[in-house]
Amino acid sequence: MSAGSKAKMSSAIEPIDKRKIFMQCFLSKGILSATEVKELLIFCGVPVESKSDMANFVLSVNASLAPFHLEIKKGIQEDDGASFYCLVNTVESSISRMSSTYSSTELELFKKLVEQIVETDDGKLGSLAALSLTEKLDKRMGKEEAENFFDRLERDKWIKKELDGKISLSVRSIVELDQYLKDMYPDVIRICYICSKLCLLGENCDSCTIKIHKKCARTLFEHCTEKRCPDKNCRSVWG
Ligand SMILES: [Zn+2]
Ligand SMILES: [Zn+2]
Repeated sequence: MSAGSKAKMSSAIEPIDKRKIFMQCFLSKGILSATEVKELLIFCGVPVESKSDMANFVLSVNASLAPFHLEIKKGIQEDDGASFYCLVNTVESSISRMSSTYSSTELELFKKLVEQIVETDDGKLGSLAALSLTEKLDKRMGKEEAENFFDRLERDKWIKKELDGKISLSVRSIVELDQYLKDMYPDVIRICYICSKLCLLGENCDSCTIKIHKKCARTLFEHCTEKRCPDKNCRSVWG
C-alpha cells in the first residue's frame, strides 16, 4: 500500500463516502439489526450518541436512494420487539420483485406460505402444513429442497421458525410486504389496535375482532388490575 493511500485511509471519511458505505451495506444485505446499523454508523464516523444525528444521517441516505425508488425503513420484530432497518422498494410492492434472489417456483411457494400464514388466527403455520404446500406448485419441488428454501428465507429474515417448527412472518416481510399484504388480503389482515401497524403475531380479543401485539398489550395493561378489551363497545375480559 502506498503512503498516499495509507494517509487517505486513516483520515476521516468524507460525508459522501459515509453515505456510500452505508448504502452499499444495505444494498448487499437488505436488512440490518439496530445493533449492526449502530456499528456501521460508528465505522462511518457518524455520532451515534444523539438520536437526531442518526436519524438525520438516515434521512440524507434516503434522499440519495429516492431516485432509485429505494428507502431504508425501520421495522419492529413482532414477537420480541427488536428493531431492524430494511431496504425497501417504494414503488414495487409485489413479491415478484424478489425474483433477483429467488426462483419463480420458490416465490410461488413463498406466496402460498404467506397466504396460509395470514389466514391463521395466530399468524403461525405448522412445518408439515408448510411443506405440504409444495404439492400445490406448478413445478415440482422436493420436500428437502423446500426445507432448504425455508432455511434461506429464515436467514434472509423473511420468515421466523420457532423451536416446534412453526413458521411466522419475520420483520422483513412485515416491513417490505406491508402494502402487498394489505392489498392482497384486505379481509383477513389485522391492524394492531394500539400502534396501528400490521399485526400477525399478537393477542386476540375473544369477543370482537381486536388484535394487539404482545408488546403493545404489555404496555397497555401495565398498570391495570383487570385486563379488558380496549374497545369501548366491547370491554370483554382479555385473555
Ligand atoms: Zn402494536
Ligand atoms: Zn373486544
